[in-house]
Amino acid sequence: MSTIRERIDSAMLHPELRAEGDPDAIIRDGRRLDHAEGTSKPLRPAPEPQPRGAKVRGNRPIDQQEAAARFIAATEHEKMHDERLWDLRQKRDREMHGIPEWEELRSLASAIKEHTLTHLDGYLDQFEANARSNGIHVHWARDAAEHNQIVHGILSDHGATSLIKSKSMLTEECGFRPYMASVGIEVIETDLGERIQQLDNEDPSHVVVPAVHKLRTDVAEVFSRTIGTDPGNSDVHYLAEAQREATRPLILNADAGMTGANFVVAETGTFVVCTNEGNADLSANVPKLHIASIGIEKIIPRLEHLAVFVRLLSRSALGSPMTQYTSHFRGPRAGGEMHVVLVDNGRSERLGLEEFWTSLKCIRCGACMNTCPVYRRSGGLSYGATYSGPIGLIIDPTFNARKYSNLPFASSLNGSCTNVCPVKINIHEQIYAWRRVLVKQHEVPFVKKAAMKAAGVLLSRPAAYRAAIAAADTALAHLPRFVIYNGLNAWGKHREVPHPPKQTFHSWYHANRGAKR
Ligand code: SF4
Repeated sequence: MSTIRERIDSAMLHPELRAEGDPDAIIRDGRRLDHAEGTSKPLRPAPEPQPRGAKVRGNRPIDQQEAAARFIAATEHEKMHDERLWDLRQKRDREMHGIPEWEELRSLASAIKEHTLTHLDGYLDQFEANARSNGIHVHWARDAAEHNQIVHGILSDHGATSLIKSKSMLTEECGFRPYMASVGIEVIETDLGERIQQLDNEDPSHVVVPAVHKLRTDVAEVFSRTIGTDPGNSDVHYLAEAQREATRPLILNADAGMTGANFVVAETGTFVVCTNEGNADLSANVPKLHIASIGIEKIIPRLEHLAVFVRLLSRSALGSPMTQYTSHFRGPRAGGEMHVVLVDNGRSERLGLEEFWTSLKCIRCGACMNTCPVYRRSGGLSYGATYSGPIGLIIDPTFNARKYSNLPFASSLNGSCTNVCPVKINIHEQIYAWRRVLVKQHEVPFVKKAAMKAAGVLLSRPAAYRAAIAAADTALAHLPRFVIYNGLNAWGKHREVPHPPKQTFHSWYHANRGAKR
């Protein structure tokens, strides 16, 4: 029978220091670890630090490649991100196969959006008139600055100093949170992913799942730093519960609530918000003042059109048949006040761009991001912009062609984004069109432009092309490695040049088939 001292030692000693024979002792290589080893080695490996996004330096072109390389180097993050998003893509495919009229729905959705966009002024006027008769205050904002000022004005009129809000890419686009911080109004995100990003002082990396690039251990680190959870506990239930406990009092005491909108119905003057956490309903219904920020492209003509989009949205986004909450807002509740801010912020201008106007059909489902091999492996924050992935490549340059001039080149142009898009935007063709526009506008680095020009000359002269290939094959076979893999060879930074074949396809064809023609 053990003594009290032995029992205390057994209970209190580090497990790696207990006596031999102790079933809890940790034995490595056939021996028990001594004290130094036991204390110097962590019980579990330190979690991989989260790679941060692209460096944003004013108007300078975002170096997406550099940020993507850092994300890829963080192998746990890259693997998790790739698998998580591919899983969403597969779920989307399963849902799609369960709807025989899927392609018909896509065509219908595309036609409704194109019709609405080409009659936008009329439908916006119709919405405004109907919304006003429902008791909603309607405001118009030309740009991000005007949007922020309008919302600030409404809050000031009500003496509001705190605002709870649900996820809205439009408010990200407007730099809303930093603006509100500068005028002393506290903004609390109520979507869990968005709240994680807010606490970590990071932008959302995905339009639907804002913190999808984070491991559980990253979230544990953020919460331990900001709301005092156990840094070693990355259990999702524990973390979600802790966040709920920390945020709920802020929600209950907020002076105003804010939502975006997924769809705005012209004939009824109403709008619809789709969420999976019910947080938009809290934001809209707990405080008496509700403000909705809505991009002007969100409008659809009639309520019956909503069914088409609701069937496509959640299936495309998360591979689930419905969002958990599809909330219709028709007007202020008794004793409350409701404001809608209709925001342009470059949309009218985009509508006039012949090759790019259909990007306004986007319903922000994120399916193009989930399927994109570049996005899945490089993470949304590597784009250094509000919108990432394929849709980002065609929207971001409309805001600032210089700053986002590298983005349209972050695509393999495989067309998968176009295939999954529920509103049939020709995304990969628009990405390609942007490349042409940017070259014409001289927004492409000199080295890339010169390389493309040289490639164009070479590819248009068969004899010169064949001579160059023969020379390259010889060079690859004989030149030392450092000559091929150096700083000038950007392509070779992450790849090995394949071993040159003994015979080119052209010479094989000439020898074997050429005479039979
Ligand atoms: S472009 Fe299409 S697939 Fe991509 S987010 Fe928009 S609607 Fe979804």
